[in-house]
Amino acid sequence: MTAAPPNSALDYDAIIIGAGLSGMYQLYRLRELGLRVRVFEAGTNVGGTWYWNRYPGARFDSESYSYGYSFSKEVLEEWEWSEHFAGQPETLRYCDYVADKFDLRRDIQFRSRVTSAIYDEGTRSWRLALEDDSEHSCRFVITAIGPLSTPTLPRIEGRDSFQGQSFHTARWPKEPVDLAGKRVAVIGTGATGVQTIQTIAAEVGHLTVFQRTPNWCAPLHNGKIDAATQAEIKAGYPEMFARCQETFACFIHTPDPRGAFEVSDQEREAFYEKLYGERGFGIWQGNFRDILIDRAANATISEFVARKIRERVRDQKVAEKLIPKNHGFGTRRLPLETFYYEVYNRDNVELIDITETPIERITPKGIRTSEQEFEFDIIIFATGFDAITGSFDKIDFRGAGGVRLKDIWKSGPETYLGLMVHGFPNMMMIMGPHTALGNIPRSIEYSVDWVTGLIRFARDNGLTRLEATREGVKDWTEHVKALGVGLLSNEVNSWMTGINSNVEGKQTRIVARYSGSAPAYRARCDEVAAKGYDELRLA
Ligand SMILES: Cc1cc2nc3c(=O)[nH]c(=O)nc-3n(C[C@H](O)[C@H](O)[C@H](O)COP(=O)(O)OP(=O)(O)OC[C@H]3O[C@@H](n4cnc5c(N)ncnc54)[C@H](O)[C@@H]3O)c2cc1C
Repeated sequence: MTAAPPNSALDYDAIIIGAGLSGMYQLYRLRELGLRVRVFEAGTNVGGTWYWNRYPGARFDSESYSYGYSFSKEVLEEWEWSEHFAGQPETLRYCDYVADKFDLRRDIQFRSRVTSAIYDEGTRSWRLALEDDSEHSCRFVITAIGPLSTPTLPRIEGRDSFQGQSFHTARWPKEPVDLAGKRVAVIGTGATGVQTIQTIAAEVGHLTVFQRTPNWCAPLHNGKIDAATQAEIKAGYPEMFARCQETFACFIHTPDPRGAFEVSDQEREAFYEKLYGERGFGIWQGNFRDILIDRAANATISEFVARKIRERVRDQKVAEKLIPKNHGFGTRRLPLETFYYEVYNRDNVELIDITETPIERITPKGIRTSEQEFEFDIIIFATGFDAITGSFDKIDFRGAGGVRLKDIWKSGPETYLGLMVHGFPNMMMIMGPHTALGNIPRSIEYSVDWVTGLIRFARDNGLTRLEATREGVKDWTEHVKALGVGLLSNEVNSWMTGINSNVEGKQTRIVARYSGSAPAYRARCDEVAAKGYDELRLA
């Protein structure tokens, strides 16, 4: 094998794909190592999720202060979140502020979609091509392309024939959309659909919601942060972030150590009532320890929330349609809502269950179901994302010997710690498949720090080729699959199990997500680093 060239013969030491929270932080860390780094970002600004998702009502379901970066004391001191669950405009302003503060933009090239990334064994380097056909070489490539960043439109006949306006929520225009008095359709009732519907219902003339799968939703209980609370939050940052390091999914909520049947019926009811009245994901992440693994325990919370829906929706036929029947509470990502159910008490809102009356086609004037022809001015597609692996599928990744990532992952992703892939030397993934998601920025910071540690190790030891072994990938992939066994969420079709009826070839469940605890994940990765990365093939 020819000796690898010094990094100076390459355009960059490292290229990061994507300038969301992952890419921004990875850039910051690699600059600290003194590396020549370039970020390629398809959008025109930083922020990723918060740059693209401008739909009405887009906001956090993590508490704002638990979501922000924790790495900079100055950022924590300077930035003030205005609400417990900030809306998209504020979060985008936050990303702008961080980019300005650390002068990140000088190394980020916007409007630059990466189309291929090809490894060259002779030079132990990667060559990336952009949409404009320009090519850029580097030693290390780091993907920061987002678990939820490739939107999917529904596969409905006639979709492009509609003559009104239509928008995917994740491609909402920067200019305001005039919804006042308009006849609007929303297709999709996941977390995004719920936020959109509750926000626009009062403004539009008439709203028709097309629902395939109802989701269990729980109240967000958002609120402004007053000055006293702001001071408490700032003073409490160290403890709060320490807590996020201990919890299962990095949220501030911790499961109750009791099982659902270890308390009396009255106690259980009172506990659920308390959780239903509290902010955020407590009812999901801070509930009895067994509600997501024990069917009978899960039924108790499902019944409780079903009762709440029946109380909140006047027309009981509509309420029944809104109550999920094919999955238990919390076994898909839980949308948090603000008066979502009350929307269906409005005269200008109508719910169409497309399992009863399927959409046959989109027409120039609107939507035709098996029963009725609807006319609309605007159709909103709240149809989500080709999750976790979708953004990888869009790039032609070819590793050693020209092997395609798409081929290796055709039956589901195979990774080492969710960070590397055998046959793809010097490629690292932030928030790729098989990593701990949850309250995502906490996982982002961990993964970025781990990758930075590995690259520092390579630099200090004169290494130019870092590769996961076949064995390492096999073990981790089997471990991730084993962790999913017995979880009710893995028995349900959702983006978390790789199902997307709108994407060709995504009709079979896969294990794309690490479902163990975040502390266990970090312990495993820490162990690898502490032992000098000897599980990797290093040269
Ligand atoms: C509406 C919505 C609300 C959410 N709310 C929460 C929440 O409350 N709490 C939480 O923890 N998580 C939430 N998430 C998940 C969210 O995606 C993560 O929290 C986090 O923002 C992910 O950051 P990232 O940088 O890894 O990915 P992203 O923010 O998705 O950024 C990826 C970037 O990569 C770019 N990119 C992709 N492919 C290419 C390519 N080929 N070439 C160049 N650039 C490319 C994209 O344009 C994008 O800017 C939410 C997601 C959505 C969609």
